[in-house]
Amino acid sequence: MSIAESLKQVQNELPEGVRLVAVSKFHPNEAIEEAYRAGQRVFGENKVQEMTAKYESLPKDIEWHFIGHLQTNKIKYIIPYVTLIHGIDSYKLLAEVNKQAEKAGRTVNCLLQLHIAREDTKFGFSFDECRGMLASGEWKQFHNIRICGLMGMATNTDNAEQIKMEFCSLSKFFREVKDEWFSESEAFKELSMGMSHDYREAIAAGSTLIRIGSKIFGERNY
Ligand SMILES: *Cc1c(COP(=O)(O)O)cnc(C)c1O
Repeated sequence: MSIAESLKQVQNELPEGVRLVAVSKFHPNEAIEEAYRAGQRVFGENKVQEMTAKYESLPKDIEWHFIGHLQTNKIKYIIPYVTLIHGIDSYKLLAEVNKQAEKAGRTVNCLLQLHIAREDTKFGFSFDECRGMLASGEWKQFHNIRICGLMGMATNTDNAEQIKMEFCSLSKFFREVKDEWFSESEAFKELSMGMSHDYREAIAAGSTLIRIGSKIFGERNY
């Protein structure tokens, strides 16, 4: 199947209120251009250098979402153009994004990443760490970031029940955080969860942003 066909297939499955981030990491500009011609405008990347090179050479109406683990010393390179940073996994990172955004005169959209998988290798706050961070209130002094919601990755497993449970736990936590800290915020509305192998479970659990790579662009050659 071509990229355009795979893209259409995924898009046809999306209920209202769910948007697709086409994860183009490790794929060349030609692949992104094909998806772009088919109407896709939101792309996700997980390496600062790669995303910046693609931003510079591709059409300027593309929305670039950073979905990887962001190192503090590299934040400044994406600040001028990034649309949404999905993986804020520490207070320190949030503070640093705010600082760089302030320098650049921008307000940058961010999602807090929660660790919901069984694997230790994945990044993110635990629910309690996130509650503690929000309760401290220090983030309220950051005027150059906008917290738009939460992001998480389920365990990489074939066990659909496990995946469902993890997504539902994040969805429940989203409502808790929304009610407690962001009930007045129009911006706080995104729940980024679901990848090629588990996006259907994620949508059923309330995802608003699915991040799909291999199902659209084919396998990646690392
Ligand atoms: C690579 C990646 C994806 C896309 O994964 P696929 O299995 O190729 O759909 C989604 N989210 C994050 C954070 C990723 O790093």
